[in-house]
Amino acid sequence: MYSRCLVCATAFEPNDQLEHFPNGRRVAFDPARGRLWTICGTCTRWSLAPIEDRWEALEELEKLTVDKARILSQTENIALLKVGPLDIVRVGKAHLTEEAWWRYGRELASRRKQYKKLSLAGTAAAGAVVFGGWATGGVTFVGMWFVMKHSPDSITDAARWLRFGGAAWRGEKECGGCGYTFRSLSYGNRSGIGLFPGDEPGKIDIVQRCPNCGLYRDGGLRLQGEVADRTLRRVLAYHHFAGASERRVVAAARLIQEAGSPQDLARIVVNDGRRLGDLQRTGAIALEIAANESDEQHLLEMELAQLEARWKREEELAEIVDGELTPLPMVETLRRKITGRQ
Ligand SMILES: [Zn+2]
Ligand SMILES: [Zn+2]
Repeated sequence: MYSRCLVCATAFEPNDQLEHFPNGRRVAFDPARGRLWTICGTCTRWSLAPIEDRWEALEELEKLTVDKARILSQTENIALLKVGPLDIVRVGKAHLTEEAWWRYGRELASRRKQYKKLSLAGTAAAGAVVFGGWATGGVTFVGMWFVMKHSPDSITDAARWLRFGGAAWRGEKECGGCGYTFRSLSYGNRSGIGLFPGDEPGKIDIVQRCPNCGLYRDGGLRLQGEVADRTLRRVLAYHHFAGASERRVVAAARLIQEAGSPQDLARIVVNDGRRLGDLQRTGAIALEIAANESDEQHLLEMELAQLEARWKREEELAEIVDGELTPLPMVETLRRKITGRQ
């Protein structure tokens, strides 16, 4: 079993998931052809495992894929899956159901836990101030009441400010009606932000009313394309800083599923124009999941296309290598073939 990349000699990081193949954080396998590779994180080349190391590991991988792995994305030929920190590329039709929302949904649920911890820390910090003050006689009852009542909120508000800053968008854009120059879009006014269908299906334009001429739909500030995507993700993350319960996330995910895709969900939620403040909570959570999902989905699709191209080349080599019989020359041939060195 190799502990280093056959091409660039980088040591593979160990994994805890595979008893019979403990090297590498990203592995690829083809159950039909009986191939098994470790993917190098440095040079991205695939190192074909020696035949005698494969069989138990292949069985183990197939079982792990079915029982525990989450599927991130798939094409006709390959699927990218994840088990803990281990990435698995499975060659062949997987027939696995995609749970496209799980990553981001979990993010929202953990955000809620963190928020609660922060609020609790806020109360504890307030308690320390109060009791410290009490001891030195510096805090009155009214002061104590004030700190007890307000501190948890101001602690979480401060954390939110630290993370997001004050504005969801900064730049320079003119009102289509009167030419008034917008320089930022602040989170404070987010309830009034208008969400309108963009030019492409599933895309959302962000609109803010002009404080000068009052135009909204046909004027004011209108953000589109990439800028609108990014701003929407920031605004929604700010809006849902406290996260969401698992039940809410599941309900939101169901909405996306019923809609058919993140793009369809966006289209349905926004309809022909909605104010952010008027969105129902589950719909707004679903929109946040969808906004991040389609972004992440796009990145995954690009990654998958690269992996698929790589797999085709590595499979050609594997076919040649596996066709040869004696183990020792096999390894040497493999080294020569993939490095191109004699
Ligand atoms: Zn390498
Ligand atoms: Zn205007």
